[in-house]
Amino acid sequence: MIEYRNLKIAVLGAGAVGAQVVRLLREHGDELAERAGAGLELIGVGVRNPDAPRTAEIPRELLTTDIEPLILGADVVIELMGGIEPAKSYILQALNSGADVISANKALIATHGPELFAAAEQVGAQLYYEAAVAGAIPIIRPLRDSLAGDRVKRILGIVNGTTNYILDRMDTDGQSLEDALASATALGYAEADPTADIEAYDAAQKAAILASLAFHTSVPLESVYREGITQITSEQMAAARDAGYVIKLLAICERLTDAAGVEGVSARVYPALVPRSHPLGAVREAKNAVFIEAESAGDLMFYGAGAGGPETASAVLGDLVSAARRHVIGGPGVAESTGANLPILPISGVTTRYQITLEVVDQPGVLSRIAALFSEHGVSVETLSQSVRSTGEDGAAATATLVVGTHEASEADLSATVDGLTHSDDVSCVTSVLRVEGL
Ligand code: NAP
Repeated sequence: MIEYRNLKIAVLGAGAVGAQVVRLLREHGDELAERAGAGLELIGVGVRNPDAPRTAEIPRELLTTDIEPLILGADVVIELMGGIEPAKSYILQALNSGADVISANKALIATHGPELFAAAEQVGAQLYYEAAVAGAIPIIRPLRDSLAGDRVKRILGIVNGTTNYILDRMDTDGQSLEDALASATALGYAEADPTADIEAYDAAQKAAILASLAFHTSVPLESVYREGITQITSEQMAAARDAGYVIKLLAICERLTDAAGVEGVSARVYPALVPRSHPLGAVREAKNAVFIEAESAGDLMFYGAGAGGPETASAVLGDLVSAARRHVIGGPGVAESTGANLPILPISGVTTRYQITLEVVDQPGVLSRIAALFSEHGVSVETLSQSVRSTGEDGAAATATLVVGTHEASEADLSATVDGLTHSDDVSCVTSVLRVEGL
């Protein structure tokens, strides 16, 4: 029998993820100890209400509301409470006492990451957060370690399972956004208040974390451009399908040079047209995927469950084994790499392709005037297709639907073009403006 050094583990929170971490730690403790080279002794589980029902059995004597002594007695603290406070104070307390911390708390890391990383660095501890982005999918460690020798050019991520489920239902069953949201709620994918998901606050937090890691630059959450999916219609979804695209909510992190020659980082989240042939086009239901374009490695894709108790617990326990191995070896934790310190570029500096759908008056000369309007604003038209919508019966003017695909254009030029189209006498309505990604 091998005698291991014993590490004391405290878990804060026993909800969807915490209860599964406790279960797996109790069921597979010996196996994990062997991999870690250290015994993993669960010394307590901090909760609000020790008598609340749990998704896994936790011995009553492990549950406590007295959290500070629990933290101070631990070598590794696993924070699975969520929210900003008291999670932040507990994590700082743990780090300041020299414990390593594992957290799945994307909201906290996206908003207070630099302060927490600095606290860890100061005492030589480490903050692990593999589960904070895309649940079970290994993505933090691949970006931090496996790709540390490469240069990431771009990340396109489907990092919110709820919105991917909603958009997938709209795409495959032709459901409205409201109906698809109702089925997401019935299946437990969406919270009672779905704002964080459908308005893309959750995806923006993950974009900030991924961009910071990928570009070795601290990317504040406030600098992430954000548009949710609430404006997406069944008509846009059907038109996307007809044109060989699918609409996905993408978290995009990109290293680019803007028109003024400034090299920087863009982090943005919005619904975009993705070619159905792109690997992200095949990410269905509530699954997550992160597609990375790296200078030397080329294209990589990470795919799997972005949420769920046992799934997220898998990522947390992977962090626990890493933390334990580090304790066994000794030495300080690895500091976050933010040395590149690139400027964060605003959305106006980003260039991408667009697809614009318009209702126009079906008269001679309209097409050339519309094309000229795009060109006046420096936006180059790549494709233009027209279909007659109404034949102008009962004296009404005949109208046609125009779908214009552009070459790469800046956000600023595109919005000036859309403004011009909205005020043109030839255009009765601009029905859809969507960015195209993944070409
Ligand atoms: P949850 O089900 O709401 O559980 C939260 C737990 O924290 C509960 O056990 C609760 O205690 C405890 N807690 C909350 N506030 C507390 C306080 N002030 N003092 C002591 N205990 C407190 O949350 P979850 O879904 O497991 O999520 C935990 C973390 O993982 C969050 O940061 C979340 O963003 C992240 N995450 C979750 C998933 C997922 O699939 N659920 C996926 C990825 C990441 P009581 O039980 O006594 O109320």
